[in-house]
Amino acid sequence: MTIFEHLEKRPCPVCGAKRAHARVFMSASYDPRRLTGASFASRKAPEFMSYRLLRCRGCETVYAAAAPPAALLAEAYAEADYDSSEEAALAADTYAAALAPVVAALPQRGRVLEIGTGTGVLLQRFLDAEFREAVGIEPSAAAIAAAAPAVRGMIRKGVFVESDFKPCSFDLICCFQTLEHVADPRALALSCARLLRPGGVLALVTHDYAAPLNWLLGRRSPIIDIEHLQLFCRSSLNWLLRDAGLGSREIRTLVNRYPLRYWLRLTPLPGGMKRAVGGVFASLRLDRARFGFNVGNLLAVGRKPG
Ligand SMILES: [Zn+2]
Repeated sequence: MTIFEHLEKRPCPVCGAKRAHARVFMSASYDPRRLTGASFASRKAPEFMSYRLLRCRGCETVYAAAAPPAALLAEAYAEADYDSSEEAALAADTYAAALAPVVAALPQRGRVLEIGTGTGVLLQRFLDAEFREAVGIEPSAAAIAAAAPAVRGMIRKGVFVESDFKPCSFDLICCFQTLEHVADPRALALSCARLLRPGGVLALVTHDYAAPLNWLLGRRSPIIDIEHLQLFCRSSLNWLLRDAGLGSREIRTLVNRYPLRYWLRLTPLPGGMKRAVGGVFASLRLDRARFGFNVGNLLAVGRKPG
C-alpha cells in the first residue's frame, strides 16, 4: 500500500484553525511495511501506529498534521477486511440503550441514516424501535457481505456524500466510531445538519482522548491508530455540533458492556500473555460474561432547531 506517500498537510479539521494554532500532541510512529488489509478494518488488534498528531488550541481537537487524500482513504476502506460481527452486535446493544431516550424524544420516527454502518446491526435495532425506514452507508464490501440478509438491502456501498440524499429528509443521523476516520468531519457535520428535518437529531459516538484511561495508556492506547485522522474530546464535539447549527447539545460518557475476552483483546499485553490470561478466563467460564467499563467513549447529540 502506498497511502503514506501521498500525505497532504491539513488545518484543524473541526474549527479550521491553521496548524500554527496547534501544539504537538504526539510524534509520528508508523511503518508502511507493517500495514496490512486489517489496518483499515474496524475493531482489529491494536497496532499502535499514528500520524504526527497536533492539538488545536481553539477547539481542542487532536488531528493528523498530514493525512492521505480522501479518495485514497475510500479505496483503503473499500478493500478493508472485516472481522468483528460479534463485537458489532455487542456495541449495538450499548448504542441502542444510550440512544433510547433520544429516540423517544424525536418528533417522529420516519427515516434514520447511519454513516459507517458496518454489518448494519443497528439498522435492525432502528426498525425494532419503529422507524419507518433505515439507511446505512458502508465502504467495506467485506462488511456488507457479512451483513444479515434482512438488512443488507438497506446498506449503500461507498462513503457518505450529501448529494445522495434529499435535504431535510432524516429524523435521526448516527455516525458511531466513524468520525475519527473521515477526511473532513466538519463538512460531514454540516451536511448532516442540512439532511435533518427540523427537530431531527445528529448523534455521534467517538473516543475521548481526554478520558483517564487514554491518558494513562498514552501511545499504547487503542485510540492511537493509523486509521484515526482526528481524535475528539467534549470540547471538540461541542464545537462541531454548535458550528453545524445544532442546539440542545448533550455530551456524555458511554459505558460499553463487552465480554472479558473482548476487553482482553484491546489491552496492550503481549500476545502470549493475552492467550494465557484468556485461557484462565475461559477455564473460570468468565470469558463470555459481560462487564461494563468506561473506556473513554463519548456520545454527543445535537438537535436541529425548529
Ligand atoms: Zn480546532
